[in-house]
Amino acid sequence: MSLSEFDLIRACFTDVGPCRSDVGLGVGDDCALLEVPAGQSLAVSMDTLVAGTHFFSDCDPSAVGYKSLAVGLSDLAAMGADPAWSTLALTLPRVDSDWVREFATGYSRLSKPYGMRLVGGDTTCGPLSVTVQVHGFVPPSAAVRRGGARVGDLVCVSGTLGDAGLALRHLLAGEAVDPSLRRRLEYPTPRVELGRRLRGLATAMIDISDGLAADLGHILDASRVAAEIDLMKLPLSPPVADAVSESSDWGLPLASGDDYELCFCLPAERLMQVKDFAASLGCSVAQIGVIRAGSGLTCRLPGGDIWPLAQVGYDHFLQ
Ligand code: ADP
Ligand code: MG
Repeated sequence: MSLSEFDLIRACFTDVGPCRSDVGLGVGDDCALLEVPAGQSLAVSMDTLVAGTHFFSDCDPSAVGYKSLAVGLSDLAAMGADPAWSTLALTLPRVDSDWVREFATGYSRLSKPYGMRLVGGDTTCGPLSVTVQVHGFVPPSAAVRRGGARVGDLVCVSGTLGDAGLALRHLLAGEAVDPSLRRRLEYPTPRVELGRRLRGLATAMIDISDGLAADLGHILDASRVAAEIDLMKLPLSPPVADAVSESSDWGLPLASGDDYELCFCLPAERLMQVKDFAASLGCSVAQIGVIRAGSGLTCRLPGGDIWPLAQVGYDHFLQ
């Protein structure tokens, strides 16, 4: 890489997201200097997107930039944290100025509405991959963990499930993809405000990145409880509902990745309040089941039979 190429990268990443008073020093020195407000914990999460695994190598770079931050924001949402800062490690096979500029445009597009400032990173040469670390604030006692679900709590999810999975299925088959499904795969909406409003209401929460069955399973393991969900109550968009009714393939909404919706548990008397404020945020919430004593997840089909949960989400080391 020539110096001018490094200059390009720096030019794209020195002023991403709004300035914040808690950033003493951002991009440009050996370290960023940051202040966590008194009484708050720093919530930190990191995700890597690898070309060919998490996105197609020829994917629109603006979508790669957007999504690499969206997956981290979804983790902050699932903790009930307020987004604050991000850091970005970018590995590029070569410096393609158009690609970097478009990537930065997608990354900025999502940084701004959440008030997130990019405060540092690293740029290296190698196979295309993107690692983003997100930092947010949450009062320690208000963070919504995975381990608090109680017997009798309702199991709820935001939005709709399986849209990104269906879009990916079509793309892999070389078929045309409904634009609304494609948006769900490439530009997911992290449910940050919903997660924040669920502080003190949800007993346990996770974001659905590896499929509902696997991610709800993490809540059940951490909380040492079981759950029964009613498949007829799963919130499905019309194309996913059609695909499920054609093939009875409940694996699509239960076990395909990249939903970035929230799954949470709450005492029954809080459901109406949560549905109301979710609606005011333009996001639906569906109650899909209930927490029981024991362990494991049971999925009830219409008519009462149990759906065999053969495949429970994506595991990078079990492919
Ligand atoms: P050093 O060699 O001291 O680690 P670098 O040359 O890697 O410094 O980076 C110089 C500055 O540019 C640092 O402040 C670093 O955080 C920032 N930086 C480098 N790459 C990126 C990037 N992709 N996104 C944001 N900031 C970056
Ligand atoms: Mg240094």
